[in-house]
Amino acid sequence: MDDYIERIRSGSLKLYALEKELDAREAVRVRRAFIEEETGANLDTIGSFSMDIDQAVRKNIENMIGAVQVPVGVAGPLAVKGEYARPSCYLPLATTEGALVASVNRGCALITRAGGADVRVLRDGMTRAPVFAARDIVHAREIVTWVEEHMTEIREAAESTTSHGKLFEIVPYVAGTNVFLRMEFDTKDAMGMNMVTIAGAKVGDLIERETGARLVALSGNMCTDKKPAAINLIRGRGRTVVAGVKLSDDLIADLLKTDAETLALVNYRKNMVGSALAGSLGFNAHAANVIAAIFIACGQDAAHVVEGSTCMTTVEKVDGGAYVAVTLPSLPVGTVGGGTGLATQRECLDLLGVHGGGTPPGTNARALAEIVAAGVLAGELSLLGALAAQHLARAHQQLGRG
Ligand code: NAP
Repeated sequence: MDDYIERIRSGSLKLYALEKELDAREAVRVRRAFIEEETGANLDTIGSFSMDIDQAVRKNIENMIGAVQVPVGVAGPLAVKGEYARPSCYLPLATTEGALVASVNRGCALITRAGGADVRVLRDGMTRAPVFAARDIVHAREIVTWVEEHMTEIREAAESTTSHGKLFEIVPYVAGTNVFLRMEFDTKDAMGMNMVTIAGAKVGDLIERETGARLVALSGNMCTDKKPAAINLIRGRGRTVVAGVKLSDDLIADLLKTDAETLALVNYRKNMVGSALAGSLGFNAHAANVIAAIFIACGQDAAHVVEGSTCMTTVEKVDGGAYVAVTLPSLPVGTVGGGTGLATQRECLDLLGVHGGGTPPGTNARALAEIVAAGVLAGELSLLGALAAQHLARAHQQLGRG
């Protein structure tokens, strides 16, 4: 151990290269010891974990020193009336925000007592949008025309890199000499970012070769990955999913201690007017809270909470109650690949009955998207109800204070 630490310190061994000389467990131990010596911090707890290190360092992390733990709670049962998900589930929520699980749990009870949330996946497509440089605007138009006339060839090139992904659309955007090609793929059960990036590179080569365009960047930010963007809101990215439930006046009074009119008014003034005034791309109360907690529990890419947060929550007063819905235009989720293979994350997906590839492929990821949307609906209902009944501060005081 001391030898390795000395070599790292002298610069003759790179911190990231320990796995070349040691097995993964030992490399992680030496690296942690080095960092402890360098910083004076005690990392015993970070060093105490149960995940398969070989798998983690191969697929998920570089320079590993251990793992952080996030507590996981469950909310439910939650009745989901979708086309892919089981009819009832318990949501695994990994969070450190006291009161969040309790709040979502209350929303789940409300939905379940109302007979369940209807959920539908409206669109399913992961995007990558490379940017090409044209010589001038005439050349830009020629590139777009070539793409429009050679979709079969482009599709063949893209799909030669994957046995699951299907390229179904390319939408071109031109700004001066910049040509953006927003490619959309059905990625089945994968969230698909690596899949579409690899396929996109192949398409980029073909277009450069055939049109004289210069590929500037494989991601030209029109994708748009991990940044808030109107294009994802309008055209969708990942799974576009909507969940809705009708609540009777009695249920609203009984569980939320308010009424349909107040619920609709709070939603209008807060989620619509307030969000518009703030220039927000999300018109919701706290969709990101539920999405982040499920994403962390289930091995999703946590940075995609950005896309998920563009949810729109609508509340309409209807005969005998209120109809509440959440629309998530951009929810990147997968049940294979990424962090889904790590043991604790895999168990959370198992708990929902969606781990791995679905039969047929794509159905497990769609089931997960339905579950997330129903969970977001539960979270929205509970928080809107708490605000309508003026109960929010009280719940946080009782459950969330240190
Ligand atoms: P991945 O782990 O790179 O690949 C998943 C692979 O699983 C697919 O490509 C597919 O192989 C295979 N597969 C097996 N059964 C499948 C099924 N039923 N449905 C779909 N695929 C199946 O995962 P990914 O979803 O493409 O990418 C997710 C990762 O990308 C995450 O770790 C995320 O953090 C990261 N990420 C990457 C970028 C980027 O720009 N590269 C950006 C953001 C995030 P075949 O393709 O051979 O069929």
